[in-house]
Order: sequence, then C-alpha cells, then structure tokens
Amino acid sequence: MSSKDYSLMDGLLCPRCGRQFDPQNINTLCSCGSPLLVSFDLERAKDELKTDMLKGRQNSLWRYHELLPVRSETNVVSLGEGMTPLLRARRLGEKLGVEKLMIKDEGIIPTGTFKARGAAVGISRAVELGIMKIVMPTNGNAGAAWSVYAAKAGLETYIVMPETAPHVTMAECVAAGAHLYLVDGLISDAGKIAGRAAAEFGLFDVSTLKEPYRIEGKKTMGLEILEQLSWNVPDVILYPTGGGVGLIGIHKAVKELTEMGWIDRMPRLVAVQSTGCSPVVKAWEKHARECEFWEKSMTVAFGINVPKPLGDTLILDAIYESDGCAVSVTDEDIMSAQRTAGRLEGVFMCPEGAATVTAVGKLRENGWIEKGETVVALNTGAGIKYPDTVSVEVPHLKPADSIQS
Ligand SMILES: *Cc1c(COP(=O)(O)O)cnc(C)c1O
Ligand SMILES: [Zn+2]
Repeated sequence: MSSKDYSLMDGLLCPRCGRQFDPQNINTLCSCGSPLLVSFDLERAKDELKTDMLKGRQNSLWRYHELLPVRSETNVVSLGEGMTPLLRARRLGEKLGVEKLMIKDEGIIPTGTFKARGAAVGISRAVELGIMKIVMPTNGNAGAAWSVYAAKAGLETYIVMPETAPHVTMAECVAAGAHLYLVDGLISDAGKIAGRAAAEFGLFDVSTLKEPYRIEGKKTMGLEILEQLSWNVPDVILYPTGGGVGLIGIHKAVKELTEMGWIDRMPRLVAVQSTGCSPVVKAWEKHARECEFWEKSMTVAFGINVPKPLGDTLILDAIYESDGCAVSVTDEDIMSAQRTAGRLEGVFMCPEGAATVTAVGKLRENGWIEKGETVVALNTGAGIKYPDTVSVEVPHLKPADSIQS
C-alpha cells in the first residue's frame, strides 16, 4: 500500500485562526496559541472507504489507518491497543433507570488506560518525523503510556509528574526506562518544568495538545463506539474530562464520519468532572468559551485533575455543537459508583470512569437523559491501577476458623 493510501491526512489546521501548517514538519501550537488539528481528505474517504472494508481488519485502532496521521505503516508502533469492549450494562442500567446503558471499557488496553491510544499514535508520528527525545508533564497515566511506547520505539523519554501521582504510574515509567522527575506541585507546574527542559535541551514537548497527533489516537474511541453499534449513533456519550482530548477526539470522529456519510447525526457529548476540579462545568454554566483556572484543585480521580485545560475552547465547542452538557460529581459519589459498577457489572472501574456512571444517574434524575435513550459511559481506565480507592475491610481468619454465611 502506498503511503498516500495508508493515511488520508492532507494538512494541519488551526481551528482558531485558520492558518495551515505542513505535516511534513515538526509542529506544535499555532502562532496564535491554539492547538492544531489534523485534516483528512474526507471527499476521497467518502468515495473510497466503505464500512464493509473494516471487516477482517486487525483488531486494533490501526484498522482506521486512513483516518490516522501516520503515513507509512512501517512507522507504526503498536502494543495491540484498541478495539476495547463495548459492554451492555443491563443491571447497572436498570438501577439507574436507563434501558440501554453501555460501558466502553478502556481498562483492557496496554498500561490499563485509554492514554495508550494517544501514545501509540503520537509516538508513531514522532518516529515518522525523526524525533529522538521527548519530554512530557503528566498526572501519571499519560506518562506511563508514552514511556512504554517510546521504549518500544527506542526513543529517550523525560517525564515530569506531581509527587502525589499514583505510585504505580511512576513504576511504569521507571520500568520502561524513562527519566522520571517528581515535582512538589500540580501538573501545571510539571508543564512549566517540561517546557523549560524542552527549550534548554532540544527535547520535543509532547504535552497535551501541544503535539497534534495524540488526539487522533483518542479519536478512535469514537470510531470504535460507532462501529461497535453498527453505525447507529447513541444518544449520549459521557466522558470524564481533564485535558479534554478524549472529548475533542470523539467529537472530531463524529464530524468526520458525518462528512463521510457513515452516520447521520451527532450524539450529545457530556463532560464529566469532579466537584474538586470542574473548570469546564463552570464555564459551560456561564455559556463561556474559555475556562478559568481552578484554584486548589483536588480529586481522587487524578486523571481529570486539570485546573485549566489548554483545549478549553475546543471542549466547550464540542459540548455546545452536540447539544451536550457538563456535570460535576463528588468524590464520595464517584467511590460509591465504583463499588456499584463492580457489584452489578463486574467492571472494576477507575474513579474517572465511575464519575461518568454517577453522572448518568444525575442526568437521568433531572430528566436530561430519557429512559429509552442509548447511553455510552466511558470507563477510561482499569480500577486495578487505583488499588487504594477500594478499602478492604474484611474478616481475618485463623486456619481453623470457618466462614460465617
Ligand atoms: C487522562 C485521563 C482522563 C482525562 O482525559 P482527557 O482526555 O485529558 O480529558 C480520564 N480518565 C483517565 C483514567 C485518565 O488517565
Ligand atoms: Zn491559529
């Protein structure tokens, strides 16, 4: 397959000022400060791609390679990511009063979170562009994912994360041979350190949205949900929103599929945040197009602890354009939803994923979600990466003791 066929990428575009960039070059943000988005030749996609063509393709996100930015298959760095299960959650749905509730379970993916999608595509593009050294600030999961894909590709990786990040993600970085630094501060502080290191040592800064390709990887969650539903558009998709890349990605997927004529409407997109850090909810409630910095942010769902997302305008646009909404839920409710989902569906959700379940309940209660609607809740990661979120208070036995039933 020639590289012109493997990817239909035809440019890089600034969604704010419309400036075009050449994807042959290494690009970061637009000169106006906005993240860049990849564009594809969707006319050609419409003519040449058919849904049937996907049948029989490999069971990973690379099945959508025409809609991904990697031009040559030889540059693909893969650990088998994507095509995670879309589970029908009957018992949980019944409890929440939603007839057709589904959980997209990203817990079953390399490194246990959907961050693997962004890392697989981002690292593959870095390889394609000849980048050798990367630096990234992270709350933990992204650092782990980028470290393992960088290791597979033979890239040198510098990771900066808050010292309060989960220990398991630090171990993943170290195990993958990354240079890990812990900072006494937030991800925003880690971002400043990474930015300085990038300038000083010529490292490529792959911070959220400063690098235009990881969003394409995350976009595949949207493509998969639609394919798994046989191109029947669900009414609502709920996403735990931190930097918002996943939400922006799903929105982009839906728009591209619409232009290709594969789907005919848009799901309502819901950004779910914790009450301990909800800049997107606050902005949405004020009908604003930008977020304000959330002071002293704190939540058990550390993957969505982002006080001011760089892509705030894109997140809010995705919500407004899709007739969606933004909701915040308490950490207490998140922990309780985590237990409920485990008990009723056998899915050990990460707290971020459990937040979407809580939000389904809230939005069903206030009528925003109707009983018969098809609802997809994203479980963005595996609960086993957060072992301390479930307290184990159980009887301790001596070998001669028996179980009381
Ligand atoms: C990073 C992360 C999120 C938030 O993702 P964004 O795309 O940055 O909004 C949600 N859940 C988990 C488990 C994460 O690691
Ligand atoms: Zn611009």
